[in-house]
Amino acid sequence: MELMWPSGVTGVLLLAVVLTLLATRVVARRRTAAHTVRPDREAEERARAAARDEERPWRTQLVDALNQPALLFDDAGRLHAANASALELMAIRTAERGASILETTASTAIVEIAARVRADREPMTVDVERAGRELRVSVSLIGDEALIVLADRTRERQIEDLRRDFVVNASHELKTPVTAIQTLGDAIAVTLPTDPVRAASLLKRLNDESERLARLVGELLDLRRLEVAGPLERVPVNLSEVVRLVVADLLSRAEGNGIEIDVDVPDNAPIAGVHADLEAVVKNLVSNAVKYNRVGGRVSVGLRTEGGARILTVADSGIGIRQQDLPRIFERFYRVDTARSRETGGTGLGLSIVRHAVERHSGTVQVESALGEGTTFRVTLPIGADG
Ligand code: ADP
Repeated sequence: MELMWPSGVTGVLLLAVVLTLLATRVVARRRTAAHTVRPDREAEERARAAARDEERPWRTQLVDALNQPALLFDDAGRLHAANASALELMAIRTAERGASILETTASTAIVEIAARVRADREPMTVDVERAGRELRVSVSLIGDEALIVLADRTRERQIEDLRRDFVVNASHELKTPVTAIQTLGDAIAVTLPTDPVRAASLLKRLNDESERLARLVGELLDLRRLEVAGPLERVPVNLSEVVRLVVADLLSRAEGNGIEIDVDVPDNAPIAGVHADLEAVVKNLVSNAVKYNRVGGRVSVGLRTEGGARILTVADSGIGIRQQDLPRIFERFYRVDTARSRETGGTGLGLSIVRHAVERHSGTVQVESALGEGTTFRVTLPIGADG
């Protein structure tokens, strides 16, 4: 019998149907095959990666040798090597060889950067936020493999933010007395010929403002000095002497407000430290105890030795500080009551200077307060080698 091909349109249609059916079956078979052998493929991929590593162990060595957190992904985007600092930064316990970029870094941003670098074949550096940290991610290709080098910029970023805020706040604080001095100067020029008595009172205010400006600049410079890192030029400083001199200086101001200052310090209490820092600590604490007091109030300054440390306490019977404000009072320019602080010549920098100076001496400062009853600051300073 002769085999006959169908002819005409019906024939073409029949052929098309047969071909489509065949193709579908092939695809279906392939799909099932792909589906069922996937775990094997993953195992194969891992084995291939291990074999490649044996062939070229330098890749793992290279990543280990980098002193920055680094990860290397192969041409299929599977983890090939990660150094210990990368695991620590990414909070991964063990590097899962063959894991994807997303599985390893848990960051879709890093996945996208790696894809861009692979497509453009150009290295890229981008800052990425991941789990509350700011990471600088640099991706480059070594052949077909993607090297991801990370840097934790969280701390740097915080310092940058603090610096920016500080410049804004400091400029704002400086502007107030500068504007007042300009305005008062103009007013004095106009008043002097006609009303010398008023001019004299304006002059007194101008003097107060220029003092405030000088204090602010002085305190900003103190803060700057305290922030310089490095070993301290320590000398023996008699803390008792520092307390006595500071109190003597503040006595007339305290008496003007009917405030009594009790001093209970030993004759001699040396510590190894920087004189200007320790003087700033005592001066800021005692002057605050006078400033934030009430008429007829009391300030007690005590100094004792416990273990290898001197403990300075400055207690007042003043206005007190609310519990919610206590954690913030050591911040620069933080004031509970801005009007009262300004009125008494405050800059909002005093306690920040105290904290820096104490920490530079490896000491601690604590505060307890009851609103309307008073506040106690306790500073603990190690006596140190020369004390
Ligand atoms: P200031 O120059 O305003 O006094 P500080 O940094 O010395 O700045 O203090 C910050 C804020 O903490 C003050 O503005 C004040 O509100 C509060 N404060 C500091 N010491 C005392 C104190 N002994 N009693 C009550 N409030 C205080």
